[in-house]
Amino acid sequence: MKRAEITVTTRAQEEVLDITTEVGEAVRTLGLGTGFILVFCPHTTAALTVNEAADPAVRADFGRALAGMVPNIPFHHGEGNSPAHVRAALLGPSLVLPVEGGRLQLGTWQGIYLCEFDGPRRRAVWVYAVVEDEGMAR
Ligand code: ZN
Repeated sequence: MKRAEITVTTRAQEEVLDITTEVGEAVRTLGLGTGFILVFCPHTTAALTVNEAADPAVRADFGRALAGMVPNIPFHHGEGNSPAHVRAALLGPSLVLPVEGGRLQLGTWQGIYLCEFDGPRRRAVWVYAVVEDEGMAR
């Protein structure tokens, strides 16, 4: 399975970054015509989601709402970043997205977001081309 890697540097402790352009470039790099991509975030305090990309205020609201959903209660984990782990788990580490004719298929208003909950850090996002294995088709 072919993989492309995107590297992102986040600039704040909590940040929602639009990585739609970078994922689209990864699709071209992989040479995938029609199929799916699996977009995977290999981190425990960052996550991926798809949501409205037209109004940047939606991104800011996302971060604020998730912060409100996970209060800083007395957690057991000693690193002090337990809310970041829980927020990342709520969104999840991966997305499966359709590709047709070499182009990522998203709704008119949709964008792909990397959600940082414990930055600033360098973050990787792996993009896998998911295609039918020709050896299995016989
Ligand atoms: Zn931790």
